[in-house]
Amino acid sequence: MLSFKEAIQLVEDEFLRLTKDIIEVNLSDSNGLTLAEDIYTDVNIPAFNNSSMDGYAINYASGKKSWVITGEISAGNFQDYTINVNSAVRIMTGGRIPTNTNAVVPIEDVNEDGSMLLLKEGIEIKLYQNIRHKGEDLKSGLAALTRNTVLKAQNIALAGACGRTKLKVYRKLTMGVLATGDELVDITADPGEDKVRATNLYSLLAGVKEINMNPINLGIVKDDKDLLMNSISSALNSDLDILITSGGVSVGKYDYLKDIFKEARVECIFWRVNIRPGKPLFFGKYIKGNKTKLIFGLPGNPVSSFVGFTLFIKPAILKFFGHEFFNSQTAILETPIKKEDFKRHFIRGKLKLDIASKRYSVSIPSSQSSGNLAGLSDSNCLIVIPEEMINPTAGAKVECIII
Ligand code: AMP
Ligand code: MG
Repeated sequence: MLSFKEAIQLVEDEFLRLTKDIIEVNLSDSNGLTLAEDIYTDVNIPAFNNSSMDGYAINYASGKKSWVITGEISAGNFQDYTINVNSAVRIMTGGRIPTNTNAVVPIEDVNEDGSMLLLKEGIEIKLYQNIRHKGEDLKSGLAALTRNTVLKAQNIALAGACGRTKLKVYRKLTMGVLATGDELVDITADPGEDKVRATNLYSLLAGVKEINMNPINLGIVKDDKDLLMNSISSALNSDLDILITSGGVSVGKYDYLKDIFKEARVECIFWRVNIRPGKPLFFGKYIKGNKTKLIFGLPGNPVSSFVGFTLFIKPAILKFFGHEFFNSQTAILETPIKKEDFKRHFIRGKLKLDIASKRYSVSIPSSQSSGNLAGLSDSNCLIVIPEEMINPTAGAKVECIII
């Protein structure tokens, strides 16, 4: 059976064969998108020398402790008072500093007495203090943001400072999520004694949103070959980029999806990976004209489908968009783990930092049944137990994938 690393490689290789479409969006709609161009500033940032404090602009001469206040400049309201060693101009944060200023004395360091400004006892002035220089942040023409930046509030602010109202970004992948199973009911229904709320739909749609892609809810389909064929072929003929299904991909009598994919001309790249949970995982591609769709058939167990998304889909997409993805932490295992096979295990864990020793440790909060949603919700990581590691004991060093 395919190893975890081989499977990951195959997924990444297929993503790298896809093309990323470049579109233009308004700056205000760019949050979470990936920049597809380098951005240069068209002006100096800041555009003029200005004060970083509310205070007084002076031309400082050593030993000087008092000045005559000759004017006032507030932010955006400049008047050029030429100052000399005896004069001071009241200035607000962001105000452009007048000619000859070589220091701004903060309000807290002085007293006003009529038109006189008096330095408080014990205060020292340093030349050029509290002056923000023109172009100090970025000189006109220099690169402000580089391609592949995921645009967050702080980056959007900088693009705005560069005068950009529109940005070239990569189009989000549209990812359809389909839940399969006779037992599934919508989460609004009472599951009664025999049915299950289709929670995977929601966890997978949320996962897609978390990586800033475009989620499409394709609903629930019963374990019926015709119905499945209908849903799968309409998904394959839609403009989805990625199709994710949950359930029906194992070896049970009603697990039809693998056959349906084959019938629908989805090329199987792999089925089953040597991991736990989540072994029966289908990965394939569907090529029509010059467009390739990638297909992930995740197992139905809620933990398995979550793990499948976390391990195979999320990192591959982030990598495809050129993002750096640091999501793991080495920690000391607090409790022994029973693991007697040569699969790679991903165990729900609770990672915590001990402030005193600056060391991370990880405990196992609950049952590891692949249906245990409460346990999954209570975890903050997946502990990786590699293939060759058997029954790790307390104290073992393990890698934890942050979730
Ligand atoms: P399957 O992979 O179809 O054999 O399903 C395995 C288990 O996962 C069964 O217990 C299902 O009831 C459960 N399951 C399947 N799909 C979902 C879903 N969308 N949400 C929650 N549980 C599911
Ligand atoms: Mg099923």
